Amino acid sequence: MLSSHPLERIQLNNESNWRTVLKKAFKDPLELLEFLGLDRAEYLDKVKTDSRFKMLVPLSYAEKMQKGDWNDPLLQQVLPINQENIETRGFVNDPIGDLQAEASSGLLHKYQGRVLLVTTGACPVHCRYCFRREFPYADSSPDKKQWQNTLDYIQGDNSIHEVIFSGGDPLMLSDDRLQKMCIEIAAIPHVKTLRFHTRVPVFLPERINQSLRKMFTALSAVQEIQKVMVIHINHANEIDEHVSRALSDLRKDGFILLNQSVLLKGVNDDVATLSELSHKLMANHVLPYYLHQLDRIQGAAHFEVERDRSIRLVEGLRNHLPGYLVPRLVEDISGERSKLPIEKNPE
Ligand code: SF4
Repeated sequence: MLSSHPLERIQLNNESNWRTVLKKAFKDPLELLEFLGLDRAEYLDKVKTDSRFKMLVPLSYAEKMQKGDWNDPLLQQVLPINQENIETRGFVNDPIGDLQAEASSGLLHKYQGRVLLVTTGACPVHCRYCFRREFPYADSSPDKKQWQNTLDYIQGDNSIHEVIFSGGDPLMLSDDRLQKMCIEIAAIPHVKTLRFHTRVPVFLPERINQSLRKMFTALSAVQEIQKVMVIHINHANEIDEHVSRALSDLRKDGFILLNQSVLLKGVNDDVATLSELSHKLMANHVLPYYLHQLDRIQGAAHFEVERDRSIRLVEGLRNHLPGYLVPRLVEDISGERSKLPIEKNPE
């Protein structure tokens, strides 16, 4: 027996408390399948072991999936399946070298001029291909002492112009915590830009609420600081009216909005799908920024698109779209000083 019928939860609207919405997210794959009218028995047959990386899918995201379709591109991104348990050569637990770039606990200094903060391990969803699914968040959470070390590190290096709030998802922090972090970092004179990497506007648009927006607006009023939000959207079907409204609010609050997608087999690995995504992003005033070749995290090999095909897909996009709507195909290589563009080898 399921604990409660999913339809009971549909009443929650955009004004609901985001934590309540999240508490009611699907955590049991069988419950999600029942909601989608898919055969639970078929799933049980496919999945022999319980994943350590538990499923988490907010109801509003599940509502955007096509009922009765196992191959729905949104479902593919979030449903744990048996292939995750296959060990694949070349796939590892820290594919982009986060741990070797850790300058102090939770602060990664990989690239010139900017640092990245792993602010929390919490996310509004568990993407099955997540490159940080094995990150030791418990050892790198920014408690008070570590936070002072973080501030000291940024203050002590005046080449750092940009601070990236990442995670997990930084918008999962409480308003108070996020505000304190933002204000203290924005007060460092050489920091000119705060950048947020997030899937929250897509999976939990309720979080872009009045109190968060007030905090962001107030931040710009007191400090001369640029605010950039890099959203992570992989498919046009992820953008519905609630997501559009959240994006529009963020833009009104002074954010420059960019998108990064991960190229995923069975989700968005064709020209028509990527092209539609770029157009829909543009309609929401979001520029396509990066298209990532999959980071080779153990358990995600079934999502990988072969490199030559990735290159051909982006070439195909160039034939369909103006240059500003073609995202840059890149990969993150452990130890490199920047993301590397993936390009065709000269003949
Ligand atoms: S939201 Fe980002 S950090 Fe969280 S599971 Fe998805 S890819 Fe990973």
